[in-house]
Amino acid sequence: MFADVSFPISSYQSFTYSVPEPLKKSVNVGVRVRVPFGSKKSVQGVITQLKNKVDYKGKILSITSLVDDTPVFDEVLWKLLGWVSNYYFTPLGQVAKTALPSSFSSNYTPPVSLYAKAEKITENDFKQLRERAGQQFLFYTTLQKLGKSVPVSSLNNLVKNSYGVIKPLEKKGFITLSKVPIKPDFKNLGIKSSKIIVKFSKEQKGVIAKLKLNLGKNKFSSYLLRGVTGSGKTEIYIALAKHAEEMGLTSIILLPEISLTPQIGGRFRSVFGERVAIWHSRMTTTERQMTWQKICLKEYSIVIGARSAIFTPLKNVGLIIVDEEQESSFKQDSPAPRYHTRDVALMRGKLNKSLTILSSATPSMESYYNQAIKKLDFVELKKRYGGAKYPKVHLVDMNLERAETENYKILFSRLLLEKIEDCLERNEQIILLQNRRGFSPYINCRDCGNVEYCKQCQISLTFHKTENKLKCHYCNSDYPVPPVCQECGSNQIVLSGAGTQKIEDELREAISKIKVTRMDIDSVRQRGETVKKLASFKNGEYDVLVGTQMIAKGLDFPNVTLVGVINADLGLFLPDFRAGERTFQLIYQVAGRSGRGKKPGEVIIQTNNPDDTVIIRASKLDMQKYYNICLSERKELMYPPFSWIVKFNFSGKDKKQVEKSAHNVLKKLNNIPKQFRLFGPAPCPIEKLRGQFRYHIIVSSPKNKDKNGEKLHTFLRNKLIKEKILTKRKGVSAVVDVDPASLL
Ligand code: ADP
Ligand code: ZN
Ligand code: ZN
Repeated sequence: MFADVSFPISSYQSFTYSVPEPLKKSVNVGVRVRVPFGSKKSVQGVITQLKNKVDYKGKILSITSLVDDTPVFDEVLWKLLGWVSNYYFTPLGQVAKTALPSSFSSNYTPPVSLYAKAEKITENDFKQLRERAGQQFLFYTTLQKLGKSVPVSSLNNLVKNSYGVIKPLEKKGFITLSKVPIKPDFKNLGIKSSKIIVKFSKEQKGVIAKLKLNLGKNKFSSYLLRGVTGSGKTEIYIALAKHAEEMGLTSIILLPEISLTPQIGGRFRSVFGERVAIWHSRMTTTERQMTWQKICLKEYSIVIGARSAIFTPLKNVGLIIVDEEQESSFKQDSPAPRYHTRDVALMRGKLNKSLTILSSATPSMESYYNQAIKKLDFVELKKRYGGAKYPKVHLVDMNLERAETENYKILFSRLLLEKIEDCLERNEQIILLQNRRGFSPYINCRDCGNVEYCKQCQISLTFHKTENKLKCHYCNSDYPVPPVCQECGSNQIVLSGAGTQKIEDELREAISKIKVTRMDIDSVRQRGETVKKLASFKNGEYDVLVGTQMIAKGLDFPNVTLVGVINADLGLFLPDFRAGERTFQLIYQVAGRSGRGKKPGEVIIQTNNPDDTVIIRASKLDMQKYYNICLSERKELMYPPFSWIVKFNFSGKDKKQVEKSAHNVLKKLNNIPKQFRLFGPAPCPIEKLRGQFRYHIIVSSPKNKDKNGEKLHTFLRNKLIKEKILTKRKGVSAVVDVDPASLL
């Protein structure tokens, strides 16, 4: 018997090994094995195929041992990995590695701790012990008093050498020892069960009833659930997961941001208790190993997690939900496979024959379009839960504000300050969005206009006040603040623009006694910090939460009645076709944090571009109109969702070589069919990152001539796998990105 084994390397090849007699019974497709490979004695790979014959005439090596005793991927998951490999042009071994980090094994045994318990002994033994073995006696009597099995480690301070004491005690039969698996303390994941009294609205009932019809039908169905902010989508997920559980089915709930897991996880915990697993990258290896094993043992009904949760080996999946499906964090950027969780979810739903729901108040343009052309079914929640009103939105023209106040550095408009004061008087809370962290995003020279850039990246440096340093937000390198302009030597250098740190500082200055907390990746680097911050804000320990896009979506604080967008234009003019869509979604989402409870809410949007379509539509919370405008623009320019896009990225330290590589690939694309369009090679809008120069080529194929993107895929598959047009050369790396999240 022979097995093809694939490795997590960037080669599409798999290699054949022979299966030794004793392993024949246990090998299977999807089982991981250790084999000799190249100069290495033992490399981990996955069996991709079993066969009885080989054509190969050379020497065939044999499998050394198995990593798993059963396949870690069932048939459906295996097919899913195959699809990911195929669709994203990524070798299967590499996909398997993403889906299953190498430290996991289905025969993983958790670490154990030693427990001891006192047994009954005769009076004579007791006497002897007291007279002859003081330490053992002390240990024994302490255990006796405790009257139960306790960890030996908890008695370490009692005697000098606990091991030297317990062994003889055990031998005499005075105590019994047992090994108890150490359970990681999932408490510090911050998932606290949060109970509410659930009473479904008529609208919610309707949506649940409709979606429920698709559960347990052993048939794939896919829906876009569009529910305005505060419409109670979480409760819909819970109701459906409950129905699924009653039918013996499991559910996967995908969230875009780890910071949302405590809130939604907490609601699920209160309903499903220990039958909910949490899955994301901030968990420790032990936590993940333990969770993984319990998933394999079918101990969970529900997995809630970030993007990699879509690959968890849950059995009998009947329901998959992608919450805030428009979020670009669902797209893996690096390393390959550069998959989009939403699309993998749809494919898993198809293979599992389950109900798959994409959910959002502001769907992605792709899903909105797919619903319009009936590729996705549609359900909608038009009203906020509990009669909560939509917030009132004010648009503030900051150009006018500057002119009228003659303050050219103004951060908070008069209206915003006034509303903040009102809010404080009523003891209500405020969220302020500024989608840029740090203190000042630019440091520039008044005399020559020079802006300080990172030496590694084409990114301006941000001043961080707490550390008194300039930092690059891409590569994280830091620089001292220069005393004079690096270009002309002038000492007229100024910090300009505002990041969240500055907003926090200036707000304290503007309104004394105001209690402000801040949430961005700088302030929540420590594990557990996010949970703590959100909880203390919810408890009312702070008046204001200042933050980046992290605070814009999903969060539910009933006492927040004012949301301020400090600068709505950030990101609006990025040279990327999704810039408008993203800005709209961000503003709409953050506005949705206001007035979710009984009290009415307001939103203040500050902008320098009050005539921009995106800003106008966002301020009117007019999703439909904006989406239709955006779609007609996309159609005209043949951008997704009207075309398929594949991007080739080239990067390297030597600009000439990078450019050359890109041109070489272009040459090999010479016989490209006419219906495809080719852009580039051109320098990427961000030309340099981490010391690497960047070029790209973009290939697109219009959907009206290539419905499923198959033509484009077939053409590129030939180029990439048969002709190997992307082989690495001269310090230039080349990657392929299918359905890229951005063109920056
Ligand atoms: P969305 O995710 O759609 O923005 P949420 O799920 O956060 O909205 O719900 C908004 C608020 O309404 C939350 O405080 C939630 O607890 C409450 N809510 C929603 N549905 C119900 C329900 N059926 N019963 C009780 N409270 C609900
Ligand atoms: Zn200068
Ligand atoms: Zn940098």
